[in-house]
Amino acid sequence: MADHQIPELLAGTGVEFVRGTATGIDITGRTVAVRTPEGAAELPYDSLVYAIGSSTDTDADAVPGAAEYAETLNSPAAAHHFATRLARLAADGGTVAVCGGGLTGIEAATEIAESHPGLRVTLISRGEPGAMMGRKARAHLHAAFGRLGITLRAGSAITKVPPDGVELADGRHIASDVCLWTTGVRVSALAADSGIAVDGRGLILVDATLRSTSHPEIHAIGDAAAVRQAWGQVSTAPARAASPSPRTPPTRWPAGCAARPSSRSASATSTSPSASAAAMPSSSSRAPTTPRAAGSCTAGPPSPTRRRSAAAR
Ligand SMILES: Cc1cc2nc3c(=O)[nH]c(=O)nc-3n(C[C@H](O)[C@H](O)[C@H](O)COP(=O)(O)OP(=O)(O)OC[C@H]3O[C@@H](n4cnc5c(N)ncnc54)[C@H](O)[C@@H]3O)c2cc1C
Repeated sequence: MADHQIPELLAGTGVEFVRGTATGIDITGRTVAVRTPEGAAELPYDSLVYAIGSSTDTDADAVPGAAEYAETLNSPAAAHHFATRLARLAADGGTVAVCGGGLTGIEAATEIAESHPGLRVTLISRGEPGAMMGRKARAHLHAAFGRLGITLRAGSAITKVPPDGVELADGRHIASDVCLWTTGVRVSALAADSGIAVDGRGLILVDATLRSTSHPEIHAIGDAAAVRQAWGQVSTAPARAASPSPRTPPTRWPAGCAARPSSRSASATSTSPSASAAAMPSSSSRAPTTPRAAGSCTAGPPSPTRRRSAAAR
């Protein structure tokens, strides 16, 4: 938290930072229950921005051993732990299995291979990695895998993660010293438990302006939103990664989300639970928190994150 200097980032914006965990939303009384280091608090709101993201789900496909033995990038602490293991293994020419051929898996495999040429990296994917990309992009991707010495194991599902590698449905065992899990999306049950309309995964259903379809005073942004696109499709976190996303600011940021004193209390917009939720440290080793972290009404729309991976170069 100190590293992110969130209070300093917010200084002068009119946004007050509350450090805590949102534990419940009373959609009728329009309050958010927050557990803070000082105790429980209840923050009223006129409009609420829900931005509590998502994380990799090692339980998603119920693969035995994934939760026990696979690493994730779900928090700064998890990413730091993984990076430390990689650095140690690199000295011994160890092996790394990256599970999942989506954008996170591709990025992780290429970054690891580039940062640690001493490691042998295998990317394991049920489908073709980058299948959602065009022909030229896929060719570029495969050239990058070759240049970085990444072994590709595509076409078979992972059935088990034992301590010493990964087992595939076709019977292959891929030995690895460390396994990184990048597939599956887990979202908090906070929205569903509060009675906000969600999709099957618990992402808040929103319209094209990111407004909750069930509660117009609530907006969901980032990985916590399921956007109904103009062409009818509902786009969720993984699918969005390669397409225009709800991190893209809404074309019309809702009226009432301009900087203004709250009609109810200072905390309704200034000390909003969304500010506290969104201003927490990023839940992975992703791009540093930017002013987009203050994705509350008072701070305006968030900026999209920009990252380059080794594969993109
Ligand atoms: C390895 C990796 C590489 C990526 N590369 C890219 C890329 O190149 N480009 C790109 O666009 N995206 C990339 N992404 C995805 C991107 O990081 C996410 O889409 C983005 O972080 C989502 O932002 P968010 O604000 O919705 O959620 P998060 O970044 O997950 O932030 C949610 C915040 O809410 C906090 N929180 C959660 N629950 C509560 C609660 N109950 N109370 C209070 N606070 C809470 C969390 O601690 C966290 O700080 C990458 C992801 C990974 C893992």
